[in-house]
Amino acid sequence: MKITISAIKADIGSIGGHTRPSKEVFDKVREYVEDKGKENGVIDTYLGYTGDDIHILMSHTKGVGNKDIHGLAWNAFKEGADIAKQQGLYGAGQDLLKDSFSGNVKGMGPGVAEMEFEERPNEAFALFTMDKTEPGAFNYPFYRLFCEPSANTGLILNPSLSSGVVLTVMDVMIGKKAELHIPQDNFVIAAALMYPGRYVIEGVKNTEGPILSSTTDRLHNLAGTYVGKDDPAAIMRLQKGFPATEEACSVFKTVHYVAGDTRGSHHAPLMPVKVMTPATSNFCIPIVSAVLFSMKNGKFTAHTDAFDTPDWDYFRTKAVKKMEYMREQGFVHPATLIPEELEYNKGYEAMMAEVSKRFS
Ligand SMILES: [Mg+2]
Repeated sequence: MKITISAIKADIGSIGGHTRPSKEVFDKVREYVEDKGKENGVIDTYLGYTGDDIHILMSHTKGVGNKDIHGLAWNAFKEGADIAKQQGLYGAGQDLLKDSFSGNVKGMGPGVAEMEFEERPNEAFALFTMDKTEPGAFNYPFYRLFCEPSANTGLILNPSLSSGVVLTVMDVMIGKKAELHIPQDNFVIAAALMYPGRYVIEGVKNTEGPILSSTTDRLHNLAGTYVGKDDPAAIMRLQKGFPATEEACSVFKTVHYVAGDTRGSHHAPLMPVKVMTPATSNFCIPIVSAVLFSMKNGKFTAHTDAFDTPDWDYFRTKAVKKMEYMREQGFVHPATLIPEELEYNKGYEAMMAEVSKRFS
């Protein structure tokens, strides 16, 4: 049975700053998707939030880029945004960039990750969602997962992974994509992923089918202007010919430094958090959550929180420590981003214009 899973996410407003959606907004989006799902061909849904971003996960048989599925998510976010405006939430409707729906949410603000595949007898997959960072935040963990045996023994032990995968890497400045093959292109892939502000992993596949899809559509559609910091999400199929669940999640133990956090203008560690965690008021440490699913005939049998077990508290503490080390650096780069990647750089430009005036 061919199934499509679509994850569509947006920030439509949050409480007291960029923290989390209100219960009323979240419930409105969920109720809308559940009420109208069936008539739009949806088999099953799951909704959650990570920081200020709500994600809608849907299973169906309509393929990727489907008008009904995208329209359902768009309308649900519109309904939620109306509540957010009524409640005076911060950034109400901020990710809904257009007034009317034109058949596909790509380029309209929300992020989309989706893939169609022949459902396996024991289909397992993960939904990764991040807040306060950019799609390139996936580069290092996913490089280690698919390309580095010292991080993932599965690359040696699983013949399907040993024979290599194809990574689609997108240049967010020009909106073009390249297919790169592991293992033969290993160093080329490493070179591309070295600068996550410009090059991002859009998808991964092998001979057994699609493995990974991440939300880069907005970046592609708005290429030419810097929109790198679009809080990302990714769907990854797991087990058998694909990464084991524990391999896919363990690569987030590194809590590596990513671009984002306060004002989208700093480098900070990526902290694994439980599902439905608000953005932290500790200078907005970037966060990632992971939900694991089993699926049968397109129904989400059950889900569980991948970062909920006690050992992940240790890695949360590690992230806080790394955050403290970086914050000791104050405003000095690399605590702050380079000027082209600063999300709020108008103030900086004004300051530097003043400096320029005084050069002689
Ligand atoms: Mg966000």
